[in-house]
Amino acid sequence: MTTGTSPHVAVIGGGILGTSTAAYLARAGVRVTLVTSGELADGASGRSIAWLNSSGDRSAAYHYLRLAGIDRYRSWQAHHPESEAYIRFDGALKWAGPGESFRSTFDFERRNGYDSLWIDRADIATVAPDVDPAAVAEEGAIYNPGEGWISMPDLIAALAADAVAAGATVHENVGHARVDVQGDEAVGVVLADGTRIAADHVVLATGPAVPADLAALGVTIPDATPAAFVLFTDPVDVTVRTVLNTPRVAVRPTPDGRLVLDADWAEQSVQVADDGSLTVPEASVEGLLAEASRVLAGNPTLTAQHVGAGLKPIPGDGNPAVGEVPGIRNLSALFTHSGATLGLILGELLADEIVTGTPSPLLADFRFHRFVDTAALEPIATGAWSPVNED
Ligand SMILES: Cc1cc2nc3c(=O)[nH]c(=O)nc-3n(C[C@H](O)[C@H](O)[C@H](O)COP(=O)(O)OP(=O)(O)OC[C@H]3O[C@@H](n4cnc5c(N)ncnc54)[C@H](O)[C@@H]3O)c2cc1C
Repeated sequence: MTTGTSPHVAVIGGGILGTSTAAYLARAGVRVTLVTSGELADGASGRSIAWLNSSGDRSAAYHYLRLAGIDRYRSWQAHHPESEAYIRFDGALKWAGPGESFRSTFDFERRNGYDSLWIDRADIATVAPDVDPAAVAEEGAIYNPGEGWISMPDLIAALAADAVAAGATVHENVGHARVDVQGDEAVGVVLADGTRIAADHVVLATGPAVPADLAALGVTIPDATPAAFVLFTDPVDVTVRTVLNTPRVAVRPTPDGRLVLDADWAEQSVQVADDGSLTVPEASVEGLLAEASRVLAGNPTLTAQHVGAGLKPIPGDGNPAVGEVPGIRNLSALFTHSGATLGLILGELLADEIVTGTPSPLLADFRFHRFVDTAALEPIATGAWSPVNED
């Protein structure tokens, strides 16, 4: 034990994953310090479509984890009635592009017990009155009544408040923090101004920066993180409840009556300069507005409020990476796409692993060890954590 009288965990990164982990640790009675470079939620969590789903074809283990993720949001809502404003389960609609069909996706979802309905184009208004049926594929669309969206900045604020109420300390605007590793062990964090915070365990949750932060510690993981952006519209006059995933645009509402838009083609148009700065072409902004107008009932005129551009964290094989970092004792990390869907469940599971030292079977397929030749890392092996709570 390095600090005080009770175990201390330092968390780097105030996005959904770091804040969730900090909140669950604090709730478990662990002393927690969360540090983040700027404001809470200033990373990917603040510029996400944040569609809560286990849509489409994926492994059984990943599907289960995502369902557990959605389940935790339902529990959160039951215990935080005010979250009705920022977590909504009003359903989602998706349809295929020209020359494609979503029939096999639908069959897969049904076979796996996912709540999935096939809706003919003529019947779209019965489930999604906010959609223009003329924009929907001729074959129809898949409606998933149990899906929804979240405004992560609101949840992060609530989680941080919960953590602080349970005794955690949150430091914003600390600049670039790094893990303090002595020998083969994480012993705390070092802030940009050189301040050292000693800890018994460190959690690295720096979103798209996780691969570079781990590389700096000698741990290489494959990274498929692209540049991306979402577009926030000005408040709209029309009521939009359904999350839309259409061939040319994804749409979801916000708590304050705006829309968030993105699309793969728009993401691919982002220009990345040598210094890493991102430029979003005006044509992509205008194009997204036009595509969103086209799919919404009444084809409303939409205007842009602001662009949220940055990196979208995606591990090289597309699956989450969670838990202990091979070769460095008392260090764990979280790196995933779909961090909105998984925000609460991953924080809960990782906090529990840190507290008890017992690996969660739900995370067995999602370890950093799959990327690393662990034979070269003896004596540290999967599951060989020291719990921060010995009693
Ligand atoms: C365009 C887009 C669309 C998406 N759509 C969906 C979706 O529909 N459904 C879904 O489930 N997920 C979606 N995601 C993914 C989801 O948003 C992310 O997986 C999730 O927000 C990642 O959270 P995080 O906490 O890992 O990272 P972040 O939110 O990026 O948080 C990391 C934090 O760490 C801070 N930080 C970084 N480096 C340091 C450092 N050295 N020292 C201190 N602080 C540091 C950052 O400032 C940031 O606040 C989408 C993401 C994007 C970008």
